Amino acid sequence: MAFQIETASVMKLKQQISLKEDPQEILFCLFKQFNDRAAIVTSGQLSGMVQIHLAAESKLPFRVCTIDTHRLFPETYAFFDQVEERYGIEIERIQPDTTEVEKMVDEHGEYLFFDSKAKQKYCCDIRKIRPMQRLLETLDVWITGTRRDQSETRQNFQKTEIISSNTHPILKVSPLIHWTTEDVWNFVRENDVPVNPLFKPDANGHYYDSLGCMICSTRIRPGESKRAGRWRWQNATDTEENDKECGLHYAI
Ligand code: SF4
Repeated sequence: MAFQIETASVMKLKQQISLKEDPQEILFCLFKQFNDRAAIVTSGQLSGMVQIHLAAESKLPFRVCTIDTHRLFPETYAFFDQVEERYGIEIERIQPDTTEVEKMVDEHGEYLFFDSKAKQKYCCDIRKIRPMQRLLETLDVWITGTRRDQSETRQNFQKTEIISSNTHPILKVSPLIHWTTEDVWNFVRENDVPVNPLFKPDANGHYYDSLGCMICSTRIRPGESKRAGRWRWQNATDTEENDKECGLHYAI
């Protein structure tokens, strides 16, 4: 049954989920209780794929969504088709508002993200955050693949957090918050989980650690920080404002 959760209930749920360690148990509990008012929201990266695999093993119906910025890699679009076939699911593509994108491009150009941090955040706002906000109106539980080891700025992320949509409270859950990159790769290999081919190292040993829009995501060299490949041209201006985040996990 679809319903919107109340504040007292979301606080109780937060306590319950915080006590659970096993990601599969967390996913089972959330989808059993909330059905399609819970969703794994993923860009097809490794943590999201682990969660899809665990949810599929639980044998309950589960909802998967992605924010399709219209600027994803062709390999990523093809990968989503492959994931749908493998798990017998439909990944909902949540897209930006066409009018808002056209206005932004008319005023600032297609490649505005090169101009300044502010314009990069504006582009992320139009293409990612606003679609995410619309998606949140349909959810009580947002399941995300964020992990503490992904960057300095994510080291304080919590497994559970109460956030607000425009209309109601939402429990944001990161079941893999404590997993390391090694944990994720071990799981993927041991369970034959599909991997976006872009995550495999190229001939020079360079690889994507973080994958999003084309141009704004690049491969990193061994030894570089995990998010050095995001908005690479900003690396030279390493300020507090330059947090290597699109705002999805801060602005909402
Ligand atoms: S990652 Fe780049 S292209 Fe994608 S929404 Fe952000 S600024 Fe725009």
